[in-house]
Amino acid sequence: MVDYDAFSRRHIGPSEDQAQTMLMELGYSSMADFIADVVPQNIAMTKRLSEALPRALNEVDVIAELRALADKNDVYRNVIGTGYYGTITPPVILRNVLENPAWYTAYTPYQPEISQGRLEALFAFQTAVCDLTALSIANASMLDEGTAAAEAMTLARRVYKGSDDAVFLIDINVHPQTIAVVQTRAKPQGIKVEVLDLSKNPSHNEVFGVLVQYPNTRGEIIDYSALATWAHSKEALLIAATDLLALTLLKAPGEWGADIAVGSAQRFGVPMGFGGPHAGFMSVREGLERSLPGRLIGQSVDAHGNPAFRLALQTREQHIRRDKATSNICTAQVLLAVMSAFYAMWHGPAGLKTIASRVNRQTQELASSVTASGHRVVHSNYFDTLVIEVKDAPELHKRADSKKINLKRIDATHVGVSLDETTDAKILKDLCEIFGGGAVGATGKSIPDSAVRSSTYLRHPIFNTMRSETSMLRYLRTLSDRDLALDRTMIPLGSCTMKLNATTEMEAVTWPEYSSLHPFAPAKQNAGSRELIEQLSDWLIKITGYDAVSLQPNAGSQGEFAGLLAIRNYHDSRGDQGRTICLIPSSAHGTNAASAVMAGMQVVVIECDDHGNVSIDDLKAKIAQYSASLAAMMVTYPSTHGVFESAITDLCGLVHDAGGQVYVDGANLNALVGLAQPGKFGADVSHLNLHKTFCIPHGGGGPGVGPVICRSHLAPFLPNHPLDELAGPATGPGPISAAPFGSASILPISWAYIRMMGGEGLTLATSVAILSANYMAAKLNPMFPVLYTGEHGRVGHECILDLREITKVSGVSVDDIAKRLMDYGFHAPTMSFPVAGTFMIEPTESEDIAEIDRFIAAMTAIHGEIQEIMDGKISVEESALRHAPHTIESVLAANWEGSYSREVGGTPSVRNGLVSGEIIGMQGKYWPTVGRIDGAHGDRNLICSCPPISEFA
Ligand SMILES: *Cc1c(COP(=O)(O)O)cnc(C)c1O
Repeated sequence: MVDYDAFSRRHIGPSEDQAQTMLMELGYSSMADFIADVVPQNIAMTKRLSEALPRALNEVDVIAELRALADKNDVYRNVIGTGYYGTITPPVILRNVLENPAWYTAYTPYQPEISQGRLEALFAFQTAVCDLTALSIANASMLDEGTAAAEAMTLARRVYKGSDDAVFLIDINVHPQTIAVVQTRAKPQGIKVEVLDLSKNPSHNEVFGVLVQYPNTRGEIIDYSALATWAHSKEALLIAATDLLALTLLKAPGEWGADIAVGSAQRFGVPMGFGGPHAGFMSVREGLERSLPGRLIGQSVDAHGNPAFRLALQTREQHIRRDKATSNICTAQVLLAVMSAFYAMWHGPAGLKTIASRVNRQTQELASSVTASGHRVVHSNYFDTLVIEVKDAPELHKRADSKKINLKRIDATHVGVSLDETTDAKILKDLCEIFGGGAVGATGKSIPDSAVRSSTYLRHPIFNTMRSETSMLRYLRTLSDRDLALDRTMIPLGSCTMKLNATTEMEAVTWPEYSSLHPFAPAKQNAGSRELIEQLSDWLIKITGYDAVSLQPNAGSQGEFAGLLAIRNYHDSRGDQGRTICLIPSSAHGTNAASAVMAGMQVVVIECDDHGNVSIDDLKAKIAQYSASLAAMMVTYPSTHGVFESAITDLCGLVHDAGGQVYVDGANLNALVGLAQPGKFGADVSHLNLHKTFCIPHGGGGPGVGPVICRSHLAPFLPNHPLDELAGPATGPGPISAAPFGSASILPISWAYIRMMGGEGLTLATSVAILSANYMAAKLNPMFPVLYTGEHGRVGHECILDLREITKVSGVSVDDIAKRLMDYGFHAPTMSFPVAGTFMIEPTESEDIAEIDRFIAAMTAIHGEIQEIMDGKISVEESALRHAPHTIESVLAANWEGSYSREVGGTPSVRNGLVSGEIIGMQGKYWPTVGRIDGAHGDRNLICSCPPISEFA
């Protein structure tokens, strides 16, 4: 009997009948028989997942349960600051971006022709960061402020020419979580870090970098220009952690000598969210752009000579440079960077300055009131933050508590206050009362003349034309229309698991009970969020068969780093300091190698055999060669080749026997949930990608959550946090993200998914994901051979199509097919990973058979086009494949010079009846807004921010 209420019916695309059809096509009579042929017996779960997880709830009931948890959170007004501030998300951005699937279901813009909307927004983000920090080049977001500072440290280390003994200096008044994240990063790499008072120049000799906060964590504005000069005299870089809102009033870091600026764009319209997600940022001075970590958007030209955006330079850097990569960042914080860019456009330079000036004036008013009440404001140069010396801090906290306000806790005789955009007359009055006085008018000034900003910023028209909501709304719509996201078509990207991000799962993210929490507020105020975190943690443990988990890592790459660090510290704790070799198969995701280096390990590559499996012979040889120094083996399961290797248990055994630990990259967990458990088949630790398997949307390249999950012997080495003792074990290595629970505000998404699917639904989802992949593989194999299969000729939840022979015979490249798919209205599969010259396809369980067949039909039609080239009817240079994608302008051009008709070029999907919802025909046709983009041109002529106003004259 059908349970019409069941959410799994909505999440899983193929109906029972459709699944049956696919099984029959593959020659099976039941799902059980099919799965038994795919998942090796030696790893198959013997118990049902439904026995371990609570029974599935329907969509209405899950909202009620999320409500009940939300009600256990007490939303105070926060003036804690320390990197997290109240902000008002403009409703037009909240609804049309943060809550809009056209934005949040997009993928990382590796296919720039169908990503011009978010690329334009990210370009504006880079421009805003460059302008406000007065540095020449900014990237398209970092994971948070703490990791941005850590990346800046390693950047400084990379470009430093002096000795290995050089130290990294951090001012004591940098945000404490930033200091801690930097220290966690520095230790495994053997980088010496010293935390000291840098308000006066130090006397160190060998220094490669200096980190200060501007204004500092106590709110004080200090002139660091002499420190910068001193740092430069030592060949060191000066890094300023800074605040974009403050910089609308303050002399910019680039104007007083900083080489790098880092920070968080949170207060540009992104809710605090109990710590995240927000966009971290980094900008650097000229000359450092080629060392910049993370993603950089650049401008280039398309085939018609028109300007077009694309990822520049280090695109997929880890995949090319692997252990030599500048960082392991893959998923970043695109959605949040996009929101912050729109916030800057919405307010414009004048609006931002008005907000900042108001905050500064209110802070002055508070300072004068507090002073009049007999307390002492510790420093007189500030933007929005005061440290106040009081007689009895606990008493003040008690008074604040009675008004539901969180002051910053410093010590017994000091409290801190940071005001922000949300500060209104009421809270100002309440604050004055807490300190015992009434409101007093502002007096004097708090920004010293030498620190007052005189330079202009955000003068590009894009920041000066979105005054009315009408124009903003239409601009947002225009941009999202340029992009192809999951709300229009399947995105069959292997390894990326672009599945449904259900609306019910998204609901709670923007409820104030989850979105307005400060990460450093007292624990009793966020009991509901902590309960949700506990439950989600417990379920992930039950699903994977591990014993302990940390939700702190805010991307898969960060989970990898945390997991390898746990291995490293485990060995060290047993006196096994020499274990630093990490074995990684040649087919591994590039982040693996980059993360191993971050954890202070050396990467040794293991070859794969002809079937795509890890070569047991090579593994044995490498283990023998490195036995005493073997730290870990890092493998993906099912493999990145899309295959369930039955030898996995043997592999794990060999590594364990040699004293090593096994890291299983869990990005492919969508093939395992309910069927097999890495924590039980031999692995010691994994990271999961909640933004793949557990339905957090990709956001166009972030946010993500990459929990690190392990067996009990590694649990003492999971991340913790200096400002939240409940966030991890006391024996942990320190934080690897700025916030105790990382991107906490998006955890309700994965929580809701698991809660609504239940064990049975999750297991069915996995089975259908594998079934759909095998159905596609079988249908496409005659045209595009499937490269690797498992023992019974089956693939896992994804498959690799080998295009190399086609390229050899016809000259049609992987790129040609990827771009041609755009003309058919599809997003290309993953290209050339893990094998060059291939496609990797992952349909996921969320696509129904009609959509899968539509994709197969498009690939079939494309194969027909390739056949015409092979038959000599048209040359590859003249073919629609080579000229893809086609823009509307190009096919409507007065003089069409193509060797094929305009219709063949521009509307093959319509001609082939492939537009989804056929009745709308041409209307449903997706048009890329630019032609094929010349990547090399963009890298040669690097343009990464909007040109200055002078060029618009
Ligand atoms: C996606 C992925 C990663 C990295 O995850 P991010 O969240 O992008 O950092 C690592 N390994 C594999 C196999 C992946 O597919």
